Amino acid sequence: MHTVCTKTPTKHDTPRQDTQSGTCLSSVYCDGAWHAFTGQRVCTLINPDTEEAYGLLQCAGETTVDQVVTSAVRAQGAWSISSTSERLHVISQITDLITSRADDLAALISDEIGAPIGFARTAQVGAAISHLQATQQALATIENTHQMGNDPAHLVCHEAVGVAALITPWNWPLNQIVLKLGAALAAGCAIVLKPSEHATRTAIALAEIITETDLPPGVFNLLIGEAETGAQLAAHPAINMISFTGSTRGGQHVAQTAAKRFARTSMELGGKSANLLFEDCDLETALRQGVAHCFRNAGQSCNAASRMLVARPIYNDAVELAAMIACNTPVGRPSESGAHIGPLVNRRQFDHVQSLIQQGIASEARLVAGGLGRPAHLPLGFYARPAVFAGVTADNVLFQSEIFGPVLTMTPFDDEAEAIALANATQYGLAAYVQTNDAARAARVAAQLQAGMVQINGRSRAAGAPFGGVKASGYGREGGLWGIRQFQEIKSISGMLIDAY
Ligand code: NAD
Repeated sequence: MHTVCTKTPTKHDTPRQDTQSGTCLSSVYCDGAWHAFTGQRVCTLINPDTEEAYGLLQCAGETTVDQVVTSAVRAQGAWSISSTSERLHVISQITDLITSRADDLAALISDEIGAPIGFARTAQVGAAISHLQATQQALATIENTHQMGNDPAHLVCHEAVGVAALITPWNWPLNQIVLKLGAALAAGCAIVLKPSEHATRTAIALAEIITETDLPPGVFNLLIGEAETGAQLAAHPAINMISFTGSTRGGQHVAQTAAKRFARTSMELGGKSANLLFEDCDLETALRQGVAHCFRNAGQSCNAASRMLVARPIYNDAVELAAMIACNTPVGRPSESGAHIGPLVNRRQFDHVQSLIQQGIASEARLVAGGLGRPAHLPLGFYARPAVFAGVTADNVLFQSEIFGPVLTMTPFDDEAEAIALANATQYGLAAYVQTNDAARAARVAAQLQAGMVQINGRSRAAGAPFGGVKASGYGREGGLWGIRQFQEIKSISGMLIDAY
């Protein structure tokens, strides 16, 4: 049986250098140790609350990418035949360490992407812990070998796909990493993680946690850098699978690169999710939940309910209520406690949101809350004003584009068929939300929505439920058993000697 090694972390296992000019992120983690490197490109790290530069990120180039991938390749064989109990042991160690350091991780996420500290602790770190727990539950009962009912000498086996590249975004930085990490480890894959350039410190903190577990050296490896580093990783011939979460454009590049050598991919991409309010719903609850869902994480969630479609008889009331809720949505600094929303992650995102608000104002849609610029009490930082546009038609750029900011669109519909057609009228298909007290309608509408996930009357997804989309929102599923299967190939073996099995 393969045994896991215990590694005692040493003082020189330190990934950061603090220079006079601030933080300099310039180490990768591979072969069970940190290695300093000099990047081919450098990113400046900017605090979203103050707009001040606080350090630099070195971006790994081809030589470093190759060094890190080679570490994973060396470790793959042994990890692919590790036992379920070994995998469970390590994943549970990671979960326990994240839980015990939840406050520190939340502070880092808050500082790095601007998430308010309370939200970072309960939602961002909380989601990461519950995803890891769901992965453990799935792994504890997983069956990787099945006998065919019509021929017991024929086995169907789920095996690790090989070395997996995990490329992740910044918006739920810890959560997006562990969803992939837990599943890949559970499947028996060695990993190369390339986190977002805007959330590298969170990934480094997670890597530090992993150094304290019994995971054998080389099974987990960390690369740092921006899109180009990610592209070099995706193009590396020794990478067997790329699990990508990010923009639809980034996903297209990665999928095209992978297709050249038929490497497996899983794509968790952008969204523009519809929230359908039928006239028999509990309007006030639907509005409070719906607006909050859109503005959550400052609107920077892939599954944000950003398009509200409302039955015409309740439309005017809904617009009035949404405008009131938006105007009363507090915006505040990341370090402040409370249920406010924080800044957008960076200037590019701020400019993107401002540009779309401007285009919305110039269109035939009606701005009923928020607008251009920052809230008056926050003249500095990438803070946007929560905005609501009414009368947004399906051809409006606000209806079609993933804004990724606190901007809600509202559109009336006359009947169920029109509601479904409007919901399906974008390139995206990640999530959809339905508000109705008619059970038959809920089932009928859910079945016709082009979305990977449908949520009825605000009911959250069950732990371990599959997460992912259709159309330009990607393919593949994360979470629980589905997440693990994503990192496995199926092998069919006939003529098995039954005694040996
Ligand atoms: P992004 O595409 O800019 O970057 C995501 C990651 O991919 C980063 O690590 C980045 O460095 C890397 N990357 C970008 N272009 C690449 C390329 N051509 N080749 C290889 N790597 C590349 O996205 P982002 O701004 O970090 O994240 C926001 C986006 O992520 C939104 O569109 C959001 O909807 C999406 N997202 C989707 C899900 C989901 O589960 N569907 C979850 C979270 C975020």
